[in-house]
Amino acid sequence: MKTNKISIIGAGFVGSTSAFAIMDAGLASDIVLVDVNHQKAEAEAMDLSHGAAFVKTVSIIAGTMADTKDSDLIIITAGIGPKPGETRLDILNKNIPIFKEIVPQLVRYSPNSILLVVSNPVDILTYVTYKYSGFPANRVFGSGTVLDTSRFKSFLSKQFEIDARNIHAYIIGEHGDSEIATWSLTKIAGMSVDEYCSTVADNCGVNFKKEITDDVKNAAYEIINRKGYTNYAVALAVRRIVEALLRDEQSILTVSSLFSGEEGINDVYMAMPCVIGRQGITRILPVPLADDEKKQLCASADILKDILKQADLT
Ligand code: NAD
Repeated sequence: MKTNKISIIGAGFVGSTSAFAIMDAGLASDIVLVDVNHQKAEAEAMDLSHGAAFVKTVSIIAGTMADTKDSDLIIITAGIGPKPGETRLDILNKNIPIFKEIVPQLVRYSPNSILLVVSNPVDILTYVTYKYSGFPANRVFGSGTVLDTSRFKSFLSKQFEIDARNIHAYIIGEHGDSEIATWSLTKIAGMSVDEYCSTVADNCGVNFKKEITDDVKNAAYEIINRKGYTNYAVALAVRRIVEALLRDEQSILTVSSLFSGEEGINDVYMAMPCVIGRQGITRILPVPLADDEKKQLCASADILKDILKQADLT
């Protein structure tokens, strides 16, 4: 019997690096790479599988849609990434037709799978996937701001010289320009950032919160301007989501999930702290946001809803 079969649609920078991270973590028994550029998928599958002597047993193949049959988890990284200067939202209309083509096929071959969307604009494309799949919302979610939350922790870690894993912090809302750094929820050893600044740290300048928030928002642009794409940290974010899912960890991760009344917001996908286990999203946590963060979250939802209105989802 196959256990933990993962199909990755799109074997580009993000798909192939995610496959590497998942393989290295020993999370899958089978990985199927599917790409319209089959030769690229073949090359990545060969290269990955030649590491067999160094990782737990895993079958890695380049396949067709039919080879994704009975996947437990399908990770969608296919699509067109932003060119320098383009926002994530600019590329939506190039990616919707791709999703219209692939999602119904994936659903036909793996009707009980979980669909994890990584392609950008991730919140919109996760909504698109939800609509085209007909799956319940707990089995369709996006990588959301799991990466941005790690970037936030990494910048806080540098600021305070504290292990990033000991910092509790969340970026919520859109994975993009309107995302929100929830300073009110940020804790180091149980202390709020303001408490930490007044009792431990002596380097909290007047603007440091704004500077860190801007650094998180601009991180992808900074990397894309230099090397044209991002792959390592996003692949680790994907690996972390996969781990929480397949090990039924009930971990809290800021995946992009369907809002159904949270903070008065409905029918849009964006990131909130969610509990993740083998069934997908177990619940969205009703975190106590500060008033300005609630306003920003509503504004982020409005931006995403406007885009959804303009998008042709028929
Ligand atoms: P890439 O161009 O290297 O890879 C995309 C791959 O998709 C290509 O190999 C292409 O051939 C393939 N593809 C296109 N149409 C397809 C189809 N119909 N079926 C199968 N494969 C198809 O791009 P990348 O750098 O790997 O980025 C992939 C996506 O991930 C982009 O949308 C990017 O913006 C997004 N991304 C998301 C995050 C995040 O945090 N959510 C982070 C980084 C990148």
